[in-house]
Amino acid sequence: VQQILLNERPEGMPSSNTFKTVNVELPAPAEGEVLLQPLYYSVDPYMRGRMSDARSYIPPFKVQEPIESGGVATVVESKDARFSPGDLVMPSGGKNFLPWATGMLFSGDHLRKIDSSIPPTYYLGVLGMPGLTAYFGLMDIGKPKPGETVVISGAAGAVGLVAGQIAKLQGCRVVGIAGGEEKVKLLTSDFNFDAAINYKGNTQMSAAVAAACPNGVDIYFDNVGGEISDAVMEHLNFFARIPVCGQIALYNTTEVPMGPRVQPALIKFSVLMQGFTIGNYANRYMEGVQQLGEWIRAGKIKYTETVVEGFDQLPAALLGLFSGQNSGKMIVKV
Ligand code: NDP
Repeated sequence: VQQILLNERPEGMPSSNTFKTVNVELPAPAEGEVLLQPLYYSVDPYMRGRMSDARSYIPPFKVQEPIESGGVATVVESKDARFSPGDLVMPSGGKNFLPWATGMLFSGDHLRKIDSSIPPTYYLGVLGMPGLTAYFGLMDIGKPKPGETVVISGAAGAVGLVAGQIAKLQGCRVVGIAGGEEKVKLLTSDFNFDAAINYKGNTQMSAAVAAACPNGVDIYFDNVGGEISDAVMEHLNFFARIPVCGQIALYNTTEVPMGPRVQPALIKFSVLMQGFTIGNYANRYMEGVQQLGEWIRAGKIKYTETVVEGFDQLPAALLGLFSGQNSGKMIVKV
């Protein structure tokens, strides 16, 4: 089988040197093991963090070992009575990731079957980690109330699209920030956002936020950080909440960034700013999955994804997140 390894830890933006493809022989599955073929991989911004060995909530990838990410696989051969060829499975039982490999052996204890009546990529997106992140970050930290104004950065991505639609369902005015005219149009025409701002080449971001938020900003769901956050945070209302979900604008920087550069606003307006990772909500996942599932079935949450084809495209798809090549969830179909 082919594997894609972390060849070396990147400085700044990863390059082709960051990855290495190798061929390895897999032994036949032992008793209790299952041979898997991956169908879909999720590529996610947090994976950039795992390429570095800085202290984090999740261990770093190991150099010269396969990179790993969320994924859905098919059972090819099984020495575990619970699984049969053709079953669709995901890692479970303490495992969250599939290695980047065209085939792999897994202990049956670390797999669960998934319901094939739901599109398998939903488990990687709207009903998986990104959807749950949007749900818990917005509901638990943002605590939206009807009539409030919610601004979402990274709005056209996997988390942002779901967060925006949930905020609408809570009766809020929702403003999205995304890169490019097409994405901005998508937010207002297909995803029910009240207004959207294109940050690319925009030197008047603060004025754009003011115009889109005539009553100020009550919740800023931040996926991005950097200058976009500076602009939004100039318009925070008293007792605003900021779920700090991601800071993708900073993930490839080599210098320690300055900021948030409007911190006095946090004091002046009694703002709550709280970072979180989705793992904090592990004991409430079912609540999130049920609620999101209900909204999807009722047509209240719509969903889109960008599917890149080919195992060898995994690195490019991952890097594509940092140049905004996706609308909705970025998926690689093997
Ligand atoms: P997305 O689907 O949103 O993909 C990333 C998007 O980020 C791109 O499409 C691009 O959109 C935007 N982007 C990339 N670089 C920049 C930049 N320099 N400045 C501004 N925008 C940029 O990814 P996810 O929805 O999976 O993740 C969104 C954020 O949420 C990330 O920061 C991620 O780390 C975080 N996250 C946090 C979790 C948690 O538990 N706290 C869990 C999951 C995600 P555009 O074209 O608009 O620039």
